Amino acid sequence: MPDNTVAAPAKVSAWDVALEQFDIAAEKLGLPQDMRQVLRYPKRQLVVHFPVRLDNGQIAMFSGYRVQHNIARGPAKGGIRYHPDVTLDEVKALAMWMTWKCAVVNIPYGGAKGGVVCDPKKMSHTERERLTRRYATEISVLIGPESDIPAPDVGTDAQTMAWITDTYSMHRGYSVPAVVTGKPIAIGGSEGRREATGRGVMIAAREAAKQSGLAFADATVAIQGYGNVGSVAADLLAKEGCKVIAISDSQGGTHHPNGLDLAAVARYKAANGTVVGYAEKVTNEEILELPCDILVPAALEGQITAANADRVKAKIVVEGANGPTTPGADRILWDKGVLLLPDVLANAGGVVVSYFEWVQDLQAFFWNEGEINSRLESIMVRAFRDVTAMAQKEETDLRTAAYILAVQRVAEATAIRCIYP
Ligand code: GLU
Repeated sequence: MPDNTVAAPAKVSAWDVALEQFDIAAEKLGLPQDMRQVLRYPKRQLVVHFPVRLDNGQIAMFSGYRVQHNIARGPAKGGIRYHPDVTLDEVKALAMWMTWKCAVVNIPYGGAKGGVVCDPKKMSHTERERLTRRYATEISVLIGPESDIPAPDVGTDAQTMAWITDTYSMHRGYSVPAVVTGKPIAIGGSEGRREATGRGVMIAAREAAKQSGLAFADATVAIQGYGNVGSVAADLLAKEGCKVIAISDSQGGTHHPNGLDLAAVARYKAANGTVVGYAEKVTNEEILELPCDILVPAALEGQITAANADRVKAKIVVEGANGPTTPGADRILWDKGVLLLPDVLANAGGVVVSYFEWVQDLQAFFWNEGEINSRLESIMVRAFRDVTAMAQKEETDLRTAAYILAVQRVAEATAIRCIYP
């Protein structure tokens, strides 16, 4: 029976979290006040409300957003999220995080994000197609290969990107593959893009283990989330020899202290729609507190907070999700000596290979998977070293160090372009 006696903690505002993280870095950096003001605002935020015809013939109204936080370093870049809890506050935070993420790995993009308030799991394939085509049309005033390039995020996938490519291309009268990334390979997608975020998480975890003297090949790992990030990271970490002891999806998790057979978990999930029941049951809260070496929160934001951070037992936290840890939790983990790899570094593999996909589309010249993975590897390792060097120099945690690096780059671009007019 569900326990309703414990009130859910008040949901933290993702935008407040993003601003607090920015303010901490801006202060440490001694960023001039006027530059702080410029960077604290999203440049553009579009709110759309649109009708979609459902399979039963009725029409339902949906609300969606597209926010561009900053475009000083290049076109706006960032995914589109379909989830019942999407808000403008959340999309603004996710857009700002994209600005810093692209700057940390030094790819020539600004930051954006989109979202539609809907439950894609409860919609049919054709309803999702109609919703996507209409939303793409509504935000077509912003998106384009030179202006703003969407990609998948929570609740969207390569098929969603195919519909957006087709809709945008139909309006133009010719095919424009570079309008989105994370597309199917058949229409200009890139080798390695589907696995890229999970691969980047694995690389970040491996570098962190190396740095902290942890035997990576024997490390125990708990992963919250079984989407595109969590499931791929699990497989790639296991390939490196790590022991994945727990993994969860939106319904809960499954745990075995001796390690899970991931192929069997995948078959169980395909047959039952959830990983719950495969082995010992754990909740999505409990999975964060399991004894393990490496914890990968790879679901949604606001998971590790001041209320549960002191119960985290992992030595290393690798943020596969965007915004899973609040600033209050950051301080607790830092005091406990936990090494936390921030989202803007740890999950940047996705947007790095998105960048490769966009470059390939623009040149109509495609690379093989080996080239993609080795370029991703070198960008991730370089970014990891840049961030850890900054953390040492500034005697700070890796999130603040990553922000200092990113904010410096964006501020430099803004300053050198000067304020228009
Ligand atoms: N949604 C992913 C992220 O949060 C990918 C964004 C992209 O590739 O543009 O990083």
